[in-house]
Amino acid sequence: MPVFEYAPAPESRAVVDIAPSYGLFIDGEFAGAGDGKVFKTLSPSSEEVLSEVAQAGAEDVDRAVKAARKAFGTWSALPGSERAKYLFRIARIIQERSRELAVLESLDNGKPIRESRDADLPLVAAHFFYYAGWADKLAYAVRGRSALNGTSGADPRPLGVAGQVIPWNFPLLMLAWKIAPALATGNTVVLKPAETTPLSALFFADICRQAGLPKGVVNIVTGDGSTGAELVGHPGIDKVAFTGSTEVGKAIARTVAGTRKKVTLELGGKAANIVFDDAPVDQAVEGIIGGIFFNQGHVCCAGSRLLVQESVQDELLDALKRRMGTLRVGDPLDKNTDIGAINSAEQLARIRSLADAGEAEGAERWAPACELPSSGYWFAPTLFTGVTQAHRIAREEIFGPVLSVLTFRTPEEAVAKANNTPYGLSAGIWTEKGSRILWMANKLRAGVVWSNTFNKFDPASPFGGYKESGYGREGGRHGLEAYLDV
Ligand code: NAD
Ligand code: MN
Repeated sequence: MPVFEYAPAPESRAVVDIAPSYGLFIDGEFAGAGDGKVFKTLSPSSEEVLSEVAQAGAEDVDRAVKAARKAFGTWSALPGSERAKYLFRIARIIQERSRELAVLESLDNGKPIRESRDADLPLVAAHFFYYAGWADKLAYAVRGRSALNGTSGADPRPLGVAGQVIPWNFPLLMLAWKIAPALATGNTVVLKPAETTPLSALFFADICRQAGLPKGVVNIVTGDGSTGAELVGHPGIDKVAFTGSTEVGKAIARTVAGTRKKVTLELGGKAANIVFDDAPVDQAVEGIIGGIFFNQGHVCCAGSRLLVQESVQDELLDALKRRMGTLRVGDPLDKNTDIGAINSAEQLARIRSLADAGEAEGAERWAPACELPSSGYWFAPTLFTGVTQAHRIAREEIFGPVLSVLTFRTPEEAVAKANNTPYGLSAGIWTEKGSRILWMANKLRAGVVWSNTFNKFDPASPFGGYKESGYGREGGRHGLEAYLDV
């Protein structure tokens, strides 16, 4: 298949002004850390330092929690319809500033502009619009508390101050998943973005000011894991919401055990993308590609284990390899780029070591010929065949552009293999047969099951895991319950 030559199509960097340094956003003001500590955030595609950001210590976190506590009284007492106005305003400002935010996100994270522009930003705005719509309807939102069934017409109560810690793979989208439902339900928040991608959260702080949001309702504290640990361990918060690795999730669960804090955890995944012999091959190939190479594979619900029915293995893998050969890896700000930079040197090292383990354990590695830029962090889209369930690349989350291929003969075997994982976040099924989709979806132990598609998101649809993928649900009506006293 001929690969087209593309002229460079760079998005302009000039649409966003990045300051040389940023403070913490506490009680409506930006200020440095009490002890003056800072860290650098860089662009993973060039290793260029983008800005210097304050590293919040225990005293700063304490100040942020107190600001959120002080703001809670008035914010929670506002009628839902008034809180909704702020959320609608934030949603509209995000839309107005979406080009700036998309460029910023691609610079700080390394993801292709095509994705930050067409996936991240529209979903971020949609989340705020969606939860704005719920803010004055909370009495109807929660099970057993409906004015319609006569039990109670009163609005359910917010929890108080939410401490929220998010990862680097979808910085602004994870912020939206956390902040929109918290504010709609009348809580106030202290949020800590990931240390490699703090900038879009700091721009969001500016949007809060632009929207006239009362001081202290949203506080942003930047820093590394130690800042996150200070936040989740702070006695002044009522709710912990965490998205990140299963390892840190377990540590957080231990920290809050025995306290009155409510917790939701969104952790790792190792999803099966299951292709039957009657699936349309080209459509399935697109779904497999999107499932594992979207966002460089830095996706907790990535379809990282391809389970293909043995009889169509050769045909499917040929088509998949041809398609992988057309993926364009490179400058995240180029509008034709499909795969951007790996987020950090640490993540690149993790991906490399797991891919090496795949080879060492006897799986066969394949990647299309592709030239990688000389500076920055890069990993070519990679496929492993001959993978068994015992291999580390079939069991551990790689969180990179690496697909492990396993085969099956019967639907029962597909279910058994798909469920043979400590995780349970998502799964995909590709088949013409509706009855088989329903049969499979009932048996798969995964929070989301996509059929004949993959990685589709909507704010109205709840998202969350089984087993070591975490507990609690975000998104949809379910996502409100995590922030309400019910
Ligand atoms: P990580 O758990 O190390 O970091 C996530 C966040 O937690 C960061 O903000 C980090 O600073 C903070 N943190 C680190 N140690 C902490 C501690 N002891 N206490 C409190 N906060 C702490 O995760 P990572 O390796 O940087 O990110 C990748 C992982 O996140 C993957 O395993 C991926 O599956 C998971 N993830 C899950 C989802 C989901 O929705 N389920 C989404 C994105 C990422
Ligand atoms: Mn960065």
